[in-house]
Amino acid sequence: MKYTLHNHTYLCKHASGSVTDMVNEAIKQKFDVIGISDHVPYKDAETMYRMEFSERNAYLEEANYLKNIYKNSSIKLYIGYEAEYQKRHLNYLISLFKEHKIDYLVLGHHYQDVSNLYTYYGRSTTIEQLRCYVNDCIEAMKTKLFWFIAHPDIVLMSFDKFTKEMELECRKLISASIDYNVYLEYNGGGVRNGYYNNLSQKDYLYPKLEFWKLVKEMKGKVLVNADAHSPYQINDEAYKLALKQAKKLGLNLVEPDYYSYIDRLKLEYDI
Ligand SMILES: [Zn+2]
Ligand SMILES: [Zn+2]
Repeated sequence: MKYTLHNHTYLCKHASGSVTDMVNEAIKQKFDVIGISDHVPYKDAETMYRMEFSERNAYLEEANYLKNIYKNSSIKLYIGYEAEYQKRHLNYLISLFKEHKIDYLVLGHHYQDVSNLYTYYGRSTTIEQLRCYVNDCIEAMKTKLFWFIAHPDIVLMSFDKFTKEMELECRKLISASIDYNVYLEYNGGGVRNGYYNNLSQKDYLYPKLEFWKLVKEMKGKVLVNADAHSPYQINDEAYKLALKQAKKLGLNLVEPDYYSYIDRLKLEYDI
């Protein structure tokens, strides 16, 4: 099954291409499944890197129009959002399913608090911050709202070493992902950003090798997504390289199962 479930549109202000452009490209590239998961807006967060609140209906209407057009074709389209998880947004996130009829949510936990950009987890350098990230992700998984975790290792990108203490936290996250059956994403966007030199070795900011070695050992379920921020990134060299690396690492690559996800969600929230 050829899929990518983490993709964006121009609405988030740091990507190009509409929902239609992304879907057309996925069809052209012979994908079986395409998921559009643009950054969700919140009433109490910046809208610099996400769509405006007022744009949500148009975003969903465009997707629903396409779903109708392609309902008998070989491509399956899912529409949703990439979202952080803060407890105060729980009802809002549920309402996206109940009232806006989205198909799925991806946990892209960029901020401890979306109202405060200084809490960006990519800047984490202390074990306390890592611990906090892991706890947030586990709380998010418990809600059953999220199909998978985008770039679960984003929190590691500013650390310059990987200690035993850090390993323990990462194990907690991976172990919970197995218990709650939430896939971990090996992120094509991180591969697209390329290597950097951290003096001693060439590495990605993410995907972080140390993290994925643990995922392999613990047999976590893994997806590889393009995290495309333009149509031409849907099936670009970075996405293909990410797939190749994930296979080479011996990760437990699974085919995304939508029905087991949506069934547990329906059971929980009567959606
Ligand atoms: Zn983005
Ligand atoms: Zn992200």
